[in-house]
Amino acid sequence: MKRILVLGGGFAGLWSAVGAARKLDELGVGPDEVEVALVNRDAWHCIRVRNYEADLRDARVPLDDVLGPIGVARIEAEVTGLDFAHRQVAVQSASAPRTLDYDRLVFALGSRLVRPALPGLAEVAFDVDTWAGGQRLNDHIAALPSRPRSAARYTALVVGSGLTGIEAATEIDAKLRAAIAAAGDAASARPCVILADHGEHIGSNLGASAVAVIGEALNELGIQTRTGVAVAAIDAEGATLSTGEKIPAATVVWCGGMRAHPLTAQFAVAHDRFGRIPVDEYLKVKGMEGAFAAGDVAAALLDDSHASVMSCQHGRPMGRFAGHNAVCDLLGEPMLPLRIDWYTTILDLGAWGAVYTEGWDRHVVTTGAAAKKTKRLINRERIYPPRSRDAREILAAAAPIVQAPPPRFATA
Ligand SMILES: Cc1cc2nc3c(=O)[nH]c(=O)nc-3n(C[C@H](O)[C@H](O)[C@H](O)COP(=O)(O)OP(=O)(O)OC[C@H]3O[C@@H](n4cnc5c(N)ncnc54)[C@H](O)[C@@H]3O)c2cc1C
Repeated sequence: MKRILVLGGGFAGLWSAVGAARKLDELGVGPDEVEVALVNRDAWHCIRVRNYEADLRDARVPLDDVLGPIGVARIEAEVTGLDFAHRQVAVQSASAPRTLDYDRLVFALGSRLVRPALPGLAEVAFDVDTWAGGQRLNDHIAALPSRPRSAARYTALVVGSGLTGIEAATEIDAKLRAAIAAAGDAASARPCVILADHGEHIGSNLGASAVAVIGEALNELGIQTRTGVAVAAIDAEGATLSTGEKIPAATVVWCGGMRAHPLTAQFAVAHDRFGRIPVDEYLKVKGMEGAFAAGDVAAALLDDSHASVMSCQHGRPMGRFAGHNAVCDLLGEPMLPLRIDWYTTILDLGAWGAVYTEGWDRHVVTTGAAAKKTKRLINRERIYPPRSRDAREILAAAAPIVQAPPPRFATA
């Protein structure tokens, strides 16, 4: 029996596994001939893009609900090493370390928040990088009313004003308001959210028209911004800036950017500035045999000039094509190239709404409630796998095609 081994159960990994199972089913190849197995450190497919939200109860899907009905084996273990020469992967499961053989590998372990060696960052700061991190932040905010009154109690400092930092800050504003209201404190307490960045502008790489909309939203929500500042240390009282200034804040959220999974270092290839592995149009790791990569660990050219972005938007189609092509490569069938000719950004702006941009220059197409409707559709429906446990529906969802862009709604 041959094995296609998928590492990671996020957007890229889950869809690689389902894509491989779909192609095998189409070819009439049973699990007695080719097994598809997926390794993930826990039992969940995390809808990671939702980790900044206030209610995370529905932001994880049991992997077994998707993989079980289509006969993909799930292995719950931590991937610890790769041996390309012997086509083996080292894993640590609850019981013991072991190695898994593969005939084709799909590497999709995603990315991680960059955490520099700042005093207090690891011990005190919050993040929205993982489901557990987002949940910890929400529990902390809900418990703030039980703290003694102080300027810091309802102050949140969000560090990093990329997409994640902006979504975290605007949603924290709403979370703090909810905590204050639940405590019956609305008459005497107000939330204070500060969004800080070492760059000169908030969201500086997001395009001028989007930045203007974001500025309007932050202004209306009363979120303060601090630009050109670096954080030197974080403690239970707040943060100290490199200028020596102290910002009292009971909540400091670190949103300092993402880097590809550290195991990408085991691929003997030239990595890009995010630590990603170069893959060709078939999602095959350039210069290597038997290995595919998808999602945040991989950089693929999607059209004549644009590389994939670390995003769910690209991770899902990269996964579908990687799984499909791993089967084709193994069984001598023609592979399919991935080309994507559109790019959108739909950024949540909390109670203000959202902003929907189109194109690589990110020109604004809708804002406010209309864009929020698109964002909700994406976060709550579009990016979810079928949860029906219906094998045919699950397999069909992994067809190697590129979806149309998310819908735009008219402003009411
Ligand atoms: C708050 C937030 C908001 C975002 N908003 C958007 C957005 O609006 N639009 C968008 O397109 N993208 C957004 N992103 C980015 C998006 O979430 C990622 O690009 C996407 O999750 C990448 O998918 P992936 O499958 O490559 O990796 P991941 O989703 O990170 O999945 C990796 C999987 O591998 C598992 N894993 C990791 N290491 C190991 C190991 N050693 N052993 C076993 N298992 C392991 C993890 O548990 C996880 O299941 C957002 C990200 C965050 C944090």
